[in-house]
Amino acid sequence: MAEQVSSVETGTGEPNAAPSTVPAASQSRSPAPIRTEILAIELHSGEFTQGGWVRGKVPVGSVSAALDDIPLSFDSEGNFFAAFDRDAPVRMVLRASHRVGPTVELPLSISPRAWDIERVNVAKRPGGGNDEEWWAKREPEWLAIRDARAKETGAQGWRQDFIWPVAGRVSGRFGRQRIYRGEPGSYHSGIDIAPGNGAPFVAPADGVVVLARTGFSLEGGIIILDHGAGLNSAFIHLSRLAVKEGDAVEQGQLLGNVGASGRATGPHLHWSLVWKDKRLDPLLFLPPQP
Ligand SMILES: [Zn+2]
Repeated sequence: MAEQVSSVETGTGEPNAAPSTVPAASQSRSPAPIRTEILAIELHSGEFTQGGWVRGKVPVGSVSAALDDIPLSFDSEGNFFAAFDRDAPVRMVLRASHRVGPTVELPLSISPRAWDIERVNVAKRPGGGNDEEWWAKREPEWLAIRDARAKETGAQGWRQDFIWPVAGRVSGRFGRQRIYRGEPGSYHSGIDIAPGNGAPFVAPADGVVVLARTGFSLEGGIIILDHGAGLNSAFIHLSRLAVKEGDAVEQGQLLGNVGASGRATGPHLHWSLVWKDKRLDPLLFLPPQP
């Protein structure tokens, strides 16, 4: 009696294992050889740690895919991007459902980071004023940022290796957090680069400008660049903007100039990277500084 190829392929069981594309029924059988490809999720590149990311491929013919409960988009060849929040759990699972084949899973092991946590014996200050007058100005800014980050432009920068927007000393790292008498403050959501006031900076990857404004209460001059697949960059405290909303920009193209606008203690470029609502560490997307 002919042996059936087992119905559910759940990866190799080994976290972050190299892809296996070995044909399942490679031995010839008589009378008719059956040739079935094992369906598997491939990992191509990534940083499997909190604030990191992964690029890979779901099987051709997949109808949906997810990282835990976060839906993933993928192109016609199955290529996808996904990322791991600053506080992502140690174990996550990539999953792809196939049109006719079994659902495939690939467990991921996400290494925890030792975040820079500073405990201070002072009370937490309210974050920027809670009065109605302040919120009347702030709310439309907050909505504009939220809406811009949710825009899908079809940009393809998510496929690229990122470059530094500007060279300079990293004066603030991602994830750093203060705890005020036991009450956690919000953590630093990006990296700060201090190349000097007025320094020009460029797009770290291809994208479409979804927000380009000046005069925001906290951010001052702000540019948000959509890289597609749910990934976007925000640059704040700018002194000058060289692009406008709707512009498609290429990696390395001038975006604007570094400044100290909004709430900033000195001139620097604050760059934050977000995938869906997950906060990522830009340093994990970059090579060592040139
Ligand atoms: Zn910052």
